[in-house]
Amino acid sequence: MTPHSDPTIRLAQDLVARASVTPDDAGCQPLLMARLTALGFGCTPLRFGVVDNFWAERGQRGPLFCFAGHTDVVPAGSLSAWSVPPFAATVVDGVLIGRGTADMKGSIAAMVTACERFLARVPEPAFRLAFLITSDEEGVAVDGTVKVIDWLGAQGKTIDWCLVGEPSSRAQLGDEYKIGRRGSITANLVIHGKQGHVAYPHLADNPVHRAAPFLAELTAIEWDRGNAHFPPSTLQIANIQAGTGANNVIPGELTVQFNLRFNTETTVADIQQRVADLLAKHQLRHTLSWSISGQPFLTRQGAFVTAIETAVAKITGTRPLPSTAGGTSDGRFIAPTGAEVIELGPLNATIHQIDEQVPVAHLQALSQIYEALLDELQARAA
Ligand SMILES: [Zn+2]
Repeated sequence: MTPHSDPTIRLAQDLVARASVTPDDAGCQPLLMARLTALGFGCTPLRFGVVDNFWAERGQRGPLFCFAGHTDVVPAGSLSAWSVPPFAATVVDGVLIGRGTADMKGSIAAMVTACERFLARVPEPAFRLAFLITSDEEGVAVDGTVKVIDWLGAQGKTIDWCLVGEPSSRAQLGDEYKIGRRGSITANLVIHGKQGHVAYPHLADNPVHRAAPFLAELTAIEWDRGNAHFPPSTLQIANIQAGTGANNVIPGELTVQFNLRFNTETTVADIQQRVADLLAKHQLRHTLSWSISGQPFLTRQGAFVTAIETAVAKITGTRPLPSTAGGTSDGRFIAPTGAEVIELGPLNATIHQIDEQVPVAHLQALSQIYEALLDELQARAA
């Protein structure tokens, strides 16, 4: 790779060149901690299991603002499909191409250089600055942000404002930012019957026949109507299995897995109760287990949201639109602590794809947006 002349792009290149496929950090975090230590941050490496994380903090007074992100990336996939090697951090015609450029090493580089310029002008801000960096966002996410949040709780530290650098922009840099996310919950359900010969159905109990009217009713439920910030909650059946493969055997059980993406109008308890009531109504013998991957969250419209919108408009000329679309992110672990969490980063059009990329000009502008945000926070905290 040819190092770029711009400091943000150069740092992004240095990070991309470290092939940090989850959970191997490949030296990204030591590089970041060195840059932050030079700025006066106190850095605490936090390794949980095989996952490297760190917390960096600077300042003694005022509200705590945190940049959050991940250094891990998804695998490159078929190497021959890439137009340039995925970890070479190549700039082609003003576009930085490589795994992690958009999700989200570019954002992390922009955060660091924004802090460098801001702190050179404002060496003692009226607020505390922090970084929460994990290398387990793209994986199972059990030894990453969630554990760091536990650790912060044990230290008695509470984040007031948090910016997650996930790629939130849709068509133009800064056109959208996330103010919340839907929750996600999965049910693993087994309907029990009695196996038998199809010619002697009175001696068996067919779980497929029992499940059919139940599933029809389940998939027709209106969970809620959404609200000003979220679309209605939805349920989708992801997997369903029954049968032995033979045409003369009534199966003994049916397994079905369904997932809900739900908004702040519906709770986990509501969902579980409605499913339990429906199972009882249909008198189904069953085994049911739930796994909750994330609670929905919505950041209140306060000073932080205004600061974000003002900072983006200052650099791009346009106020960003709030959104709650998309999958889950580590914001789900930070929001329950009471922090105001938003996500703002580059375009998400190529994330996880072959030839993942971000225009150099976007990363430079993103760094300016983050710097403008620090100025807005300074004005509000002072
Ligand atoms: Zn990401």
